[in-house]
Amino acid sequence: MHIAIIGAGPAGLYSAYLIKRAIADARVEVHERLPRGTTFGFGIVFSDRALDFLVADDPGTHAALVPALERWSDLTLVHQGERVVIDGIGFAAIGRQRFLDLLEARALEVGVEVNYADPADELPYCDLVIGADGVNSLVRQRHGDALGTSETHLSNRFIWFGTARPFDTLTQTFVRTRHGAFNAHHYRYAPDASTFIVETNEATWRDAGLGAMSETDSLSYCQEVFADALGGEALISNNSCWRQFPVIRNRAWSHGNAVLLGDALHTAHFSIGSGTRLALEDAIALAGAIKAQPDDLTAALEDYQSGRAPVLDKLLKAADKSALWYENFAEHMKLEPYEFAMSYINRTGRIDPDRLKALSPGFVARYEGTAA
Ligand SMILES: Cc1cc2nc3c(=O)[nH]c(=O)nc-3n(C[C@H](O)[C@H](O)[C@H](O)COP(=O)(O)OP(=O)(O)OC[C@H]3O[C@@H](n4cnc5c(N)ncnc54)[C@H](O)[C@@H]3O)c2cc1C
Repeated sequence: MHIAIIGAGPAGLYSAYLIKRAIADARVEVHERLPRGTTFGFGIVFSDRALDFLVADDPGTHAALVPALERWSDLTLVHQGERVVIDGIGFAAIGRQRFLDLLEARALEVGVEVNYADPADELPYCDLVIGADGVNSLVRQRHGDALGTSETHLSNRFIWFGTARPFDTLTQTFVRTRHGAFNAHHYRYAPDASTFIVETNEATWRDAGLGAMSETDSLSYCQEVFADALGGEALISNNSCWRQFPVIRNRAWSHGNAVLLGDALHTAHFSIGSGTRLALEDAIALAGAIKAQPDDLTAALEDYQSGRAPVLDKLLKAADKSALWYENFAEHMKLEPYEFAMSYINRTGRIDPDRLKALSPGFVARYEGTAA
């Protein structure tokens, strides 16, 4: 069996590893357009137990990843200058490049061929083409009509920076300026490095003149808005530009010998920190389906979608609700800090009051005290 995987992001590298591990005599090759060691963004975050799903089936990868994670157990919201700590909402984070290096090492160990600086312009001729090529997927575009792709964009603008300031916890800082409201999602992903994503609505972005600013001027502007949060530290750019988050969905996940996974198949708003985990889970589902029916790939691809879609849909719905909360965050900022924090924590509708009390007793007690 000859399998070509387009894209060496989390979905591509991990599916390559799992498929080659399961079918040792298959030829599995990954084609990545970027040179080795380059990627977009900075660090990524997982909910604190988000990699637990790896333990049962792939303890080796779990053991390789876990020591590289930064961890903390609370979440902090900063609104009207007040810090509201929500205990028990922990996360784990890692640099995106470090994460890819660890996944690549696993793939190479089992004999996957990984080709960098090797953009696919046409789909390769082989038994199976796996589109792990992210939001602008070539594989998806080639089969768009048959896959029933929908792509819309959220209205907010965001830009992904980094900084050398290590934050204690994942922090959401909200600031009002004369142009309008800004939010930053920031957390450390290494002892000396943090992600710093700035988000604002379309009107504020325009009024502030950010659409007409260069990358350097945008960086300086955001640095000024978040001077307190940054504590004098600079923001760092990595080809950072203002974007609107794409919401991608596909009715069919495969067509002929081509199949999608990860961001090529579906995006999940970064505010729930799940896109990478979903990409890994897709890889597990796809590799499992191929392993079960290596002689009938059509049936395997059907099983991949029918088995995975119901689980995935729940998380995507939560991601959409979270994205909607952010689309209106300037309105929510009219709330006092503890009401605001409660609105934030309930944004996906997945935490009922009893669960919240069990998870975050300190926060609930302070919230009730403030309300009283
Ligand atoms: C601002 C922001 C913050 C995020 N934060 C988090 C977070 O904290 N936690 C989290 O879990 N997720 C986060 N995500 C989402 C996460 O980045 C994605 O869900 C994840 O990277 C998806 O993995 P993937 O392998 O499907 O796609 P990608 O990581 O996008 O990888 C696709 C790869 O394909 C390559 N490629 C594309 N076209 C071609 C071609 N024609 N030929 C060859 N190669 C090609 C690309 O260069 C890329 O390397 C964030 C996303 C954004 C935008």
